Amino acid sequence: MGKRGRLMLKVTINENLCKGCEMCVIACPKKIIELNKGKINAKGYNPVHIVDESKCTGCASCAVMCPDVVITLED
Ligand code: SF4
Ligand code: SF4
Repeated sequence: MGKRGRLMLKVTINENLCKGCEMCVIACPKKIIELNKGKINAKGYNPVHIVDESKCTGCASCAVMCPDVVITLED
């Protein structure tokens, strides 16, 4: 994993809680969150996924924005 001399946070998406509202997509400054059109979750929505985790800065904007606490960040 990252050897960047700082704490690297990993974004975790609980896909089955996602309602595909795209608030997190809009919130991400790196534009690396997208709806996964190839997947339908337990609620019947396309859940979001991270398209390029290597570009994630761990800023947590996505987690803060999500109204359903679908996204968490951890070490
Ligand atoms: S933590 Fe920041 S950069 Fe990473 S996916 Fe969320 S909003 Fe985007
Ligand atoms: S903000 Fe939350 S519920 Fe909305 S698309 Fe993103 S992860 Fe899913």
